[in-house]
Amino acid sequence: MEIPVTHKAPSIEIDHSKCTVPFLCKKCLLICPQVVFGVHAVNVERLKETDPRVPGSYQLGSGPRFKCTGCNDCINVCPVDAITITWPG
Ligand code: SF4
Ligand code: SF4
Repeated sequence: MEIPVTHKAPSIEIDHSKCTVPFLCKKCLLICPQVVFGVHAVNVERLKETDPRVPGSYQLGSGPRFKCTGCNDCINVCPVDAITITWPG
């Protein structure tokens, strides 16, 4: 895999209609050697536990995109093709 020659961070798009239960899946989080991804709760109710099994209750996000090396491991491991990475020209 050729690493793109650029100093700019890539755009990392996550299709949330495909990635519905990221807290249960976590495949991209576990495989990324640069720890680019994170998961946060979306539907938070006071004094109530957020159920990770409910679709949409948690959302995957990308944090430090500048750390991405373009290895594409996250794209290859995702079972639903929810991740798209685009490098600036
Ligand atoms: S392409 Fe590699 S470094 Fe970049 S977010 Fe995916 S797994 Fe992490
Ligand atoms: S591997 Fe795909 S489905 Fe699983 S948490 Fe990551 S983006 Fe979502």
